[in-house]
Amino acid sequence: MPPVPEALVIGAGPAGLMAAEELAKAGVPTVVCEAKPTVARKFLMAGKSGLNVTKDEPWDSFVTRYDSPRLRPILAGFGPAEVRDWCRALGQEVFTGSSGRVFPVAMKASPLLRAWVRRLTTQGVELRTRWRWTGFDGAAFRFDTPEGPQSLTPKVAILALGGASWQRLGSEAAWVPWLRAKGVTITDWQPANMGFRVDWSPHMTQIFGQPVKGVVLKAIHATSREVLDQHRGEFVISAKGLEGGGIYSIYKPLRDGAALALDLLPDLTQDEIARRLSRMKPGESTGNRLRKLGLDRAQIALVMEVSRADPFAHLKHLYIPLQGPRSLDEAISVAGGIAWDALTDDLELKALPGTFAAGEMLDWEAPTGGYLLTASWATGRWAGQTAARRLASPPRT
Ligand SMILES: Cc1cc2nc3c(=O)[nH]c(=O)nc-3n(C[C@H](O)[C@H](O)[C@H](O)COP(=O)(O)OP(=O)(O)OC[C@H]3O[C@@H](n4cnc5c(N)ncnc54)[C@H](O)[C@@H]3O)c2cc1C
Repeated sequence: MPPVPEALVIGAGPAGLMAAEELAKAGVPTVVCEAKPTVARKFLMAGKSGLNVTKDEPWDSFVTRYDSPRLRPILAGFGPAEVRDWCRALGQEVFTGSSGRVFPVAMKASPLLRAWVRRLTTQGVELRTRWRWTGFDGAAFRFDTPEGPQSLTPKVAILALGGASWQRLGSEAAWVPWLRAKGVTITDWQPANMGFRVDWSPHMTQIFGQPVKGVVLKAIHATSREVLDQHRGEFVISAKGLEGGGIYSIYKPLRDGAALALDLLPDLTQDEIARRLSRMKPGESTGNRLRKLGLDRAQIALVMEVSRADPFAHLKHLYIPLQGPRSLDEAISVAGGIAWDALTDDLELKALPGTFAAGEMLDWEAPTGGYLLTASWATGRWAGQTAARRLASPPRT
Protein backbone atom coordinates (compact mmCIF):
# COMPACT_ATOMS: atom_id res chain seq x y z
CA MET A 1 0.00 0.00 0.00
CA PRO A 2 1.51 3.39 -0.98
CA PRO A 3 2.05 5.87 1.87
CA VAL A 4 -0.86 8.22 2.59
CA PRO A 5 -0.15 11.64 1.03
CA GLU A 6 -0.73 14.82 3.02
CA ALA A 7 -2.23 16.39 -0.10
CA LEU A 8 -3.91 14.55 -2.93
CA VAL A 9 -4.61 16.19 -6.28
CA ILE A 10 -6.89 14.27 -8.64
CA GLY A 11 -6.52 15.16 -12.33
CA ALA A 12 -3.23 16.18 -13.96
CA GLY A 13 -4.44 18.90 -16.33
CA PRO A 14 -3.38 22.56 -16.10
CA ALA A 15 -5.48 23.15 -12.95
CA GLY A 16 -4.33 20.06 -11.05
CA LEU A 17 -0.65 20.49 -11.89
CA MET A 18 -0.79 24.13 -10.84
CA ALA A 19 -2.43 23.17 -7.52
CA ALA A 20 0.30 20.57 -6.97
CA GLU A 21 2.99 23.16 -7.69
CA GLU A 22 1.61 25.52 -5.04
CA LEU A 23 1.35 22.74 -2.45
CA ALA A 24 4.92 21.66 -3.20
CA LYS A 25 6.16 25.27 -2.93
CA ALA A 26 4.58 25.36 0.54
CA GLY A 27 6.55 22.21 1.45
CA VAL A 28 3.52 19.87 1.46
CA PRO A 29 4.15 16.26 0.32
CA THR A 30 1.78 15.96 -2.65
CA VAL A 31 0.59 13.12 -4.85
CA VAL A 32 -1.18 13.75 -8.15
CA CYS A 33 -3.36 10.89 -9.44
CA GLU A 34 -4.26 10.88 -13.13
CA ALA A 35 -6.53 8.36 -14.87
CA LYS A 36 -4.72 8.47 -18.21
CA PRO A 37 -1.31 6.90 -18.93
CA THR A 38 0.12 10.42 -19.51
CA VAL A 39 -0.67 13.85 -18.07
CA ALA A 40 -2.43 16.93 -19.51
CA ARG A 41 -3.76 15.45 -22.75
CA LYS A 42 -6.27 18.25 -23.38
CA PHE A 43 -3.55 20.84 -22.79
CA LEU A 44 -1.41 19.11 -25.42
CA MET A 45 -4.38 19.09 -27.81
CA ALA A 46 -4.88 22.82 -27.16
CA GLY A 47 -1.35 23.31 -28.45
CA LYS A 48 -2.01 21.53 -31.76
CA SER A 49 -3.27 24.67 -33.51
CA GLY A 50 -1.21 27.27 -31.64
CA LEU A 51 -1.28 27.31 -27.83
CA ASN A 52 -3.01 30.45 -26.70
CA VAL A 53 -1.97 30.85 -23.05
CA THR A 54 -3.65 34.14 -22.16
CA LYS A 55 -4.95 37.44 -23.55
CA ASP A 56 -2.96 40.66 -23.36
CA GLU A 57 -5.62 43.26 -22.64
CA PRO A 58 -6.45 45.80 -19.94
CA TRP A 59 -7.66 44.22 -16.71
CA ASP A 60 -11.09 45.88 -16.86
CA SER A 61 -11.97 44.29 -20.17
CA PHE A 62 -10.12 41.03 -19.39
CA VAL A 63 -12.23 40.15 -16.33
CA THR A 64 -15.52 40.96 -18.03
CA ARG A 65 -14.91 38.07 -20.44
CA TYR A 66 -15.64 35.66 -17.58
CA ASP A 67 -19.25 35.13 -16.53
CA SER A 68 -18.54 34.68 -12.81
CA PRO A 69 -17.61 37.58 -10.48
CA ARG A 70 -16.25 34.99 -8.03
CA LEU A 71 -13.30 34.52 -10.38
CA ARG A 72 -12.19 38.15 -10.00
CA PRO A 73 -9.96 37.89 -6.92
CA ILE A 74 -8.61 34.58 -8.20
CA LEU A 75 -7.65 36.06 -11.59
CA ALA A 76 -6.25 39.15 -9.87
CA GLY A 77 -3.66 36.82 -8.33
CA PHE A 78 -2.81 35.07 -11.59
CA GLY A 79 -3.83 37.04 -14.66
CA PRO A 80 -2.26 37.74 -18.06
CA ALA A 81 0.99 39.26 -16.69
CA GLU A 82 1.54 36.38 -14.26
CA VAL A 83 0.84 33.77 -16.96
CA ARG A 84 3.52 35.34 -19.17
CA ASP A 85 6.06 35.45 -16.31
CA TRP A 86 5.25 31.87 -15.36
CA CYS A 87 5.83 30.63 -18.94
CA ARG A 88 9.12 32.54 -19.12
CA ALA A 89 10.26 31.04 -15.80
CA LEU A 90 9.78 27.65 -17.44
CA GLY A 91 12.08 28.70 -20.27
CA GLN A 92 9.22 29.34 -22.70
CA GLU A 93 9.40 32.83 -24.21
CA VAL A 94 5.98 34.20 -25.21
CA PHE A 95 4.80 36.80 -27.71
CA THR A 96 1.57 38.73 -28.24
CA GLY A 97 -0.11 38.30 -31.61
CA SER A 98 -1.93 41.11 -33.42
CA SER A 99 -5.25 40.16 -31.79
CA GLY A 100 -3.76 40.40 -28.28
CA ARG A 101 -3.58 36.63 -27.95
CA VAL A 102 -0.44 35.42 -26.20
CA PHE A 103 1.44 32.36 -27.50
CA PRO A 104 4.67 30.60 -26.54
CA VAL A 105 7.27 31.17 -29.27
CA ALA A 106 7.30 27.37 -29.75
CA MET A 107 3.50 27.62 -30.37
CA LYS A 108 3.09 24.10 -28.97
CA ALA A 109 2.24 22.92 -25.45
CA SER A 110 4.75 20.06 -25.29
CA PRO A 111 7.98 22.02 -24.47
CA LEU A 112 6.14 23.94 -21.72
CA LEU A 113 4.62 20.77 -20.29
CA ARG A 114 7.95 18.90 -20.34
CA ALA A 115 9.70 21.72 -18.48
CA TRP A 116 6.81 21.99 -16.00
CA VAL A 117 6.69 18.27 -15.19
CA ARG A 118 10.48 18.29 -14.73
CA ARG A 119 10.17 21.18 -12.27
CA LEU A 120 7.29 19.51 -10.41
CA THR A 121 9.32 16.33 -10.02
CA THR A 122 12.26 18.35 -8.68
CA GLN A 123 9.88 20.00 -6.21
CA GLY A 124 8.97 16.53 -4.91
CA VAL A 125 5.51 16.14 -6.47
CA GLU A 126 4.71 12.47 -7.09
CA LEU A 127 2.75 11.80 -10.29
CA ARG A 128 0.79 8.55 -10.40
CA THR A 129 -0.66 7.86 -13.84
CA ARG A 130 -3.29 5.18 -14.57
CA TRP A 131 -4.78 6.00 -11.17
CA ARG A 132 -8.46 6.49 -11.91
CA TRP A 133 -10.63 7.94 -9.16
CA THR A 134 -13.79 5.82 -8.96
CA GLY A 135 -15.68 7.45 -6.09
CA PHE A 136 -15.75 7.49 -2.31
CA ASP A 137 -15.34 4.77 0.29
CA GLY A 138 -16.70 6.62 3.30
CA ALA A 139 -14.22 9.49 3.69
CA ALA A 140 -11.57 7.80 1.51
CA PHE A 141 -11.00 8.37 -2.22
CA ARG A 142 -11.17 5.05 -4.09
CA PHE A 143 -8.98 4.40 -7.15
CA ASP A 144 -8.55 1.78 -9.84
CA THR A 145 -4.78 1.42 -10.32
CA PRO A 146 -2.45 -0.96 -12.17
CA GLU A 147 -1.87 -2.64 -8.78
CA GLY A 148 -5.61 -3.08 -8.19
CA PRO A 149 -8.09 -1.01 -6.15
CA GLN A 150 -6.57 1.46 -3.67
CA SER A 151 -8.08 3.94 -1.20
CA LEU A 152 -6.44 7.17 -0.05
CA THR A 153 -7.42 9.38 2.88
CA PRO A 154 -5.30 12.53 2.55
CA LYS A 155 -5.46 15.51 4.90
CA VAL A 156 -6.54 17.73 1.99
CA ALA A 157 -7.67 16.87 -1.54
CA ILE A 158 -7.98 18.98 -4.66
CA LEU A 159 -10.30 17.85 -7.42
CA ALA A 160 -9.22 19.09 -10.86
CA LEU A 161 -10.95 16.66 -13.20
CA GLY A 162 -11.83 19.04 -16.04
CA GLY A 163 -15.19 19.65 -17.71
CA ALA A 164 -17.20 17.35 -19.95
CA SER A 165 -15.94 17.83 -23.51
CA TRP A 166 -13.37 15.88 -25.55
CA GLN A 167 -13.92 12.93 -23.22
CA ARG A 168 -11.29 10.80 -24.97
CA LEU A 169 -8.66 13.21 -23.58
CA GLY A 170 -9.76 12.43 -20.02
CA SER A 171 -12.46 14.85 -18.84
CA GLU A 172 -15.28 12.32 -18.62
CA ALA A 173 -17.28 14.01 -15.84
CA ALA A 174 -17.82 10.59 -14.20
CA TRP A 175 -17.53 12.39 -10.84
CA VAL A 176 -20.84 14.27 -11.15
CA PRO A 177 -23.05 11.64 -9.42
CA TRP A 178 -20.45 10.96 -6.70
CA LEU A 179 -20.31 14.62 -5.68
CA ARG A 180 -24.08 15.03 -6.01
CA ALA A 181 -24.52 12.09 -3.63
CA LYS A 182 -22.37 14.02 -1.10
CA GLY A 183 -24.67 17.05 -1.37
CA VAL A 184 -22.60 19.14 -3.82
CA THR A 185 -24.71 21.14 -6.29
CA ILE A 186 -23.63 20.58 -9.89
CA THR A 187 -25.09 22.71 -12.67
CA ASP A 188 -25.98 20.80 -15.83
CA TRP A 189 -23.43 20.93 -18.64
CA GLN A 190 -23.82 23.00 -21.77
CA PRO A 191 -21.39 23.24 -24.69
CA ALA A 192 -19.33 26.46 -24.92
CA ASN A 193 -17.08 27.72 -27.71
CA MET A 194 -18.62 25.23 -30.10
CA GLY A 195 -19.69 25.01 -33.73
CA PHE A 196 -23.29 24.82 -34.95
CA ARG A 197 -24.99 22.22 -37.11
CA VAL A 198 -26.31 23.04 -40.58
CA ASP A 199 -27.91 20.49 -42.91
CA TRP A 200 -26.09 21.43 -46.12
CA SER A 201 -27.28 20.30 -49.55
CA PRO A 202 -24.85 18.12 -51.55
CA HIS A 203 -23.76 21.25 -53.50
CA MET A 204 -21.81 22.44 -50.48
CA THR A 205 -19.52 19.38 -50.34
CA GLN A 206 -16.99 21.09 -52.62
CA ILE A 207 -16.34 23.88 -50.11
CA PHE A 208 -16.17 21.87 -46.89
CA GLY A 209 -13.06 22.94 -44.99
CA GLN A 210 -12.95 26.38 -46.62
CA PRO A 211 -12.78 29.57 -44.55
CA VAL A 212 -15.20 32.45 -45.01
CA LYS A 213 -13.24 35.60 -44.21
CA GLY A 214 -13.92 39.27 -43.53
CA VAL A 215 -17.64 38.96 -42.83
CA VAL A 216 -19.71 40.27 -39.93
CA LEU A 217 -21.52 37.56 -37.99
CA LYS A 218 -24.64 38.72 -36.17
CA ALA A 219 -26.72 36.98 -33.53
CA ILE A 220 -30.29 38.17 -34.08
CA HIS A 221 -33.04 37.85 -31.48
CA ALA A 222 -35.56 35.32 -32.78
CA THR A 223 -38.63 37.56 -32.34
CA SER A 224 -37.56 41.19 -31.82
CA ARG A 225 -34.89 40.95 -34.58
CA GLU A 226 -32.59 42.97 -32.36
CA VAL A 227 -28.86 42.41 -32.96
CA LEU A 228 -27.72 40.77 -29.71
CA ASP A 229 -24.04 40.45 -30.57
CA GLN A 230 -21.84 40.79 -33.62
CA HIS A 231 -18.29 40.12 -34.60
CA ARG A 232 -16.20 40.73 -37.70
CA GLY A 233 -14.06 37.72 -38.42
CA GLU A 234 -13.95 34.39 -40.13
CA PHE A 235 -15.33 30.90 -39.78
CA VAL A 236 -15.05 27.56 -41.53
CA ILE A 237 -17.73 25.66 -43.46
CA SER A 238 -17.53 22.01 -42.43
CA ALA A 239 -19.49 18.89 -43.32
CA LYS A 240 -21.43 19.28 -40.06
CA GLY A 241 -22.07 23.02 -40.22
CA LEU A 242 -20.07 26.06 -39.15
CA GLU A 243 -17.12 26.34 -36.77
CA GLY A 244 -14.12 28.56 -35.99
CA GLY A 245 -13.30 31.84 -34.25
CA GLY A 246 -16.07 34.03 -35.69
CA ILE A 247 -18.77 31.58 -34.62
CA TYR A 248 -17.21 30.95 -31.20
CA SER A 249 -17.22 34.68 -30.49
CA ILE A 250 -21.04 34.85 -30.63
CA TYR A 251 -21.83 31.30 -29.46
CA LYS A 252 -23.74 32.36 -26.32
CA PRO A 253 -26.77 34.08 -27.94
CA LEU A 254 -26.77 31.47 -30.72
CA ARG A 255 -26.85 28.71 -28.08
CA ASP A 256 -29.80 30.49 -26.48
CA GLY A 257 -31.76 30.36 -29.75
CA ALA A 258 -30.75 33.54 -31.61
CA ALA A 259 -30.62 33.37 -35.41
CA LEU A 260 -27.37 33.81 -37.33
CA ALA A 261 -27.18 36.42 -40.09
CA LEU A 262 -24.08 37.30 -42.11
CA ASP A 263 -23.09 40.61 -43.62
CA LEU A 264 -20.99 39.34 -46.51
CA LEU A 265 -20.04 42.84 -47.71
CA PRO A 266 -19.50 44.85 -44.52
CA ASP A 267 -17.56 47.59 -46.34
CA LEU A 268 -20.34 48.32 -48.85
CA THR A 269 -23.69 49.95 -48.14
CA GLN A 270 -26.88 48.49 -49.61
CA ASP A 271 -27.04 51.53 -51.94
CA GLU A 272 -23.48 50.99 -53.12
CA ILE A 273 -24.22 47.32 -53.82
CA ALA A 274 -27.29 48.37 -55.88
CA ARG A 275 -25.22 50.98 -57.77
CA ARG A 276 -22.52 48.45 -58.63
CA LEU A 277 -25.08 45.86 -59.76
CA SER A 278 -26.82 48.43 -61.99
CA ARG A 279 -23.54 49.06 -63.79
CA MET A 280 -23.04 45.35 -64.69
CA LYS A 281 -23.98 43.94 -68.13
CA PRO A 282 -27.60 42.68 -68.26
CA GLY A 283 -26.65 39.18 -69.49
CA GLU A 284 -23.97 38.61 -66.85
CA SER A 285 -24.31 35.38 -64.84
CA THR A 286 -25.26 35.49 -61.15
CA GLY A 287 -21.91 33.95 -60.18
CA ASN A 288 -19.98 36.59 -62.12
CA ARG A 289 -21.96 39.42 -60.57
CA LEU A 290 -21.40 38.11 -57.07
CA ARG A 291 -17.70 37.74 -57.81
CA LYS A 292 -17.49 41.30 -59.14
CA LEU A 293 -19.09 42.53 -55.93
CA GLY A 294 -16.15 40.97 -54.12
CA LEU A 295 -17.45 37.58 -52.93
CA ASP A 296 -15.16 34.55 -53.12
CA ARG A 297 -16.08 30.95 -53.99
CA ALA A 298 -17.13 29.93 -50.48
CA GLN A 299 -19.23 33.06 -49.98
CA ILE A 300 -20.95 32.58 -53.37
CA ALA A 301 -21.70 28.95 -52.48
CA LEU A 302 -23.30 30.13 -49.22
CA VAL A 303 -25.46 32.68 -51.04
CA MET A 304 -26.63 30.10 -53.58
CA GLU A 305 -27.29 27.59 -50.79
CA VAL A 306 -29.60 29.76 -48.70
CA SER A 307 -30.80 32.52 -51.03
CA ARG A 308 -30.83 31.01 -54.53
CA ALA A 309 -34.26 32.50 -55.43
CA ASP A 310 -33.05 36.08 -54.85
CA PRO A 311 -29.27 35.98 -54.55
CA PHE A 312 -28.65 39.75 -54.39
CA ALA A 313 -31.35 40.59 -51.85
CA HIS A 314 -29.66 39.44 -48.63
CA LEU A 315 -25.94 40.01 -49.08
CA LYS A 316 -25.87 42.23 -46.00
CA HIS A 317 -28.23 40.04 -44.05
CA LEU A 318 -27.93 36.41 -45.07
CA TYR A 319 -29.72 34.12 -42.62
CA ILE A 320 -28.05 30.73 -42.12
CA PRO A 321 -30.46 28.01 -40.96
CA LEU A 322 -28.70 26.67 -37.85
CA GLN A 323 -29.89 23.31 -36.50
CA GLY A 324 -28.52 23.87 -33.00
CA PRO A 325 -25.13 23.55 -31.29
CA ARG A 326 -22.71 20.72 -31.97
CA SER A 327 -22.55 18.09 -29.21
CA LEU A 328 -21.09 18.69 -25.76
CA ASP A 329 -18.19 16.36 -26.48
CA GLU A 330 -17.19 18.37 -29.57
CA ALA A 331 -17.13 21.71 -27.74
CA ILE A 332 -13.81 23.39 -26.89
CA SER A 333 -15.08 24.07 -23.38
CA VAL A 334 -18.23 23.78 -21.29
CA ALA A 335 -20.53 25.77 -19.07
CA GLY A 336 -21.84 24.07 -15.95
CA GLY A 337 -20.11 22.02 -13.27
CA ILE A 338 -19.66 22.61 -9.55
CA ALA A 339 -21.94 25.53 -8.60
CA TRP A 340 -20.32 28.56 -6.95
CA ASP A 341 -22.82 28.26 -4.09
CA ALA A 342 -21.28 24.90 -3.26
CA LEU A 343 -17.84 26.49 -2.77
CA THR A 344 -16.30 28.76 -0.16
CA ASP A 345 -14.12 31.66 -1.31
CA ASP A 346 -11.18 29.26 -0.74
CA LEU A 347 -12.65 26.94 -3.44
CA GLU A 348 -13.36 24.40 -0.72
CA LEU A 349 -16.48 22.26 -1.12
CA LYS A 350 -18.87 23.30 1.65
CA ALA A 351 -20.28 19.75 1.76
CA LEU A 352 -16.81 18.15 1.94
CA PRO A 353 -14.49 20.15 4.23
CA GLY A 354 -10.85 19.63 3.30
CA THR A 355 -11.72 18.96 -0.36
CA PHE A 356 -11.11 21.78 -2.84
CA ALA A 357 -11.89 22.06 -6.57
CA ALA A 358 -10.35 23.92 -9.50
CA GLY A 359 -10.32 24.32 -13.26
CA GLU A 360 -13.00 23.59 -15.79
CA MET A 361 -14.98 21.42 -13.39
CA LEU A 362 -16.20 24.67 -11.76
CA ASP A 363 -19.22 26.45 -13.22
CA TRP A 364 -17.68 29.32 -15.22
CA GLU A 365 -17.44 30.07 -18.89
CA ALA A 366 -15.33 32.33 -21.04
CA PRO A 367 -14.42 32.66 -24.72
CA THR A 368 -11.49 30.84 -26.29
CA GLY A 369 -8.39 32.92 -26.79
CA GLY A 370 -6.33 32.17 -23.67
CA TYR A 371 -9.09 32.91 -21.14
CA LEU A 372 -9.75 29.21 -20.48
CA LEU A 373 -6.19 28.25 -19.60
CA THR A 374 -5.65 31.40 -17.55
CA ALA A 375 -8.66 30.63 -15.34
CA SER A 376 -7.74 26.94 -15.07
CA TRP A 377 -4.26 27.86 -13.86
CA ALA A 378 -5.54 30.67 -11.62
CA THR A 379 -8.11 28.48 -9.85
CA GLY A 380 -5.59 25.63 -9.52
CA ARG A 381 -3.11 28.04 -7.93
CA TRP A 382 -5.77 29.44 -5.60
CA ALA A 383 -6.95 25.99 -4.47
CA GLY A 384 -3.35 24.83 -3.95
CA GLN A 385 -2.57 27.88 -1.82
CA THR A 386 -5.73 27.70 0.27
CA ALA A 387 -5.29 23.94 0.82
CA ALA A 388 -1.68 24.53 1.93
CA ARG A 389 -2.85 27.24 4.34
CA ARG A 390 -5.46 24.84 5.72
CA LEU A 391 -2.74 22.29 6.48
CA ALA A 392 -0.64 24.97 8.18
CA SER A 393 -3.51 26.08 10.40
CA PRO A 394 -6.34 23.55 10.55
CA PRO A 395 -9.72 24.82 11.77
CA ARG A 396 -10.31 24.34 15.50
CA THR A 397 -12.80 21.60 16.26
C1 LIG B 1 -9.17 21.54 -29.14
C2 LIG B 1 -8.98 22.42 -27.93
C3 LIG B 1 -8.21 23.56 -28.04
C4 LIG B 1 -8.06 24.41 -26.94
N1 LIG B 1 -7.27 25.51 -27.06
C5 LIG B 1 -7.13 26.36 -26.01
C6 LIG B 1 -6.29 27.50 -26.11
O1 LIG B 1 -5.58 27.73 -27.12
N2 LIG B 1 -6.25 28.37 -25.05
C7 LIG B 1 -6.98 28.15 -23.91
O2 LIG B 1 -6.94 28.97 -22.99
N3 LIG B 1 -7.71 27.01 -23.75
C8 LIG B 1 -7.80 26.13 -24.78
N4 LIG B 1 -8.55 24.99 -24.63
C9 LIG B 1 -9.18 24.72 -23.30
C10 LIG B 1 -8.18 24.16 -22.27
O3 LIG B 1 -7.45 23.09 -22.82
C11 LIG B 1 -8.95 23.72 -21.02
O4 LIG B 1 -9.69 24.82 -20.53
C12 LIG B 1 -8.02 23.20 -19.90
O5 LIG B 1 -7.30 22.07 -20.35
C13 LIG B 1 -8.82 22.83 -18.65
O6 LIG B 1 -7.92 22.44 -17.65
P1 LIG B 1 -8.37 21.51 -16.42
O7 LIG B 1 -7.11 21.16 -15.71
O8 LIG B 1 -9.47 22.14 -15.70
O9 LIG B 1 -8.99 20.20 -17.10
P2 LIG B 1 -8.36 19.12 -18.09
O10 LIG B 1 -7.29 19.73 -18.92
O11 LIG B 1 -9.52 18.51 -18.79
O12 LIG B 1 -7.67 18.08 -17.12
C14 LIG B 1 -8.43 17.21 -16.29
C15 LIG B 1 -7.60 15.98 -15.98
O13 LIG B 1 -8.31 15.16 -15.06
C16 LIG B 1 -8.16 13.80 -15.45
N5 LIG B 1 -9.27 13.00 -14.91
C17 LIG B 1 -10.58 13.08 -15.27
N6 LIG B 1 -11.31 12.15 -14.59
C18 LIG B 1 -10.41 11.49 -13.76
C19 LIG B 1 -10.55 10.44 -12.79
N7 LIG B 1 -11.74 9.87 -12.54
N8 LIG B 1 -9.45 10.03 -12.12
C20 LIG B 1 -8.24 10.62 -12.36
N9 LIG B 1 -8.05 11.59 -13.27
C21 LIG B 1 -9.13 12.04 -13.98
C22 LIG B 1 -8.17 13.87 -16.97
O14 LIG B 1 -7.64 12.71 -17.56
C23 LIG B 1 -7.35 15.12 -17.22
O15 LIG B 1 -5.97 14.84 -17.33
C24 LIG B 1 -8.70 24.11 -25.70
C25 LIG B 1 -9.46 22.94 -25.60
C26 LIG B 1 -9.61 22.10 -26.70
C27 LIG B 1 -10.43 20.84 -26.56
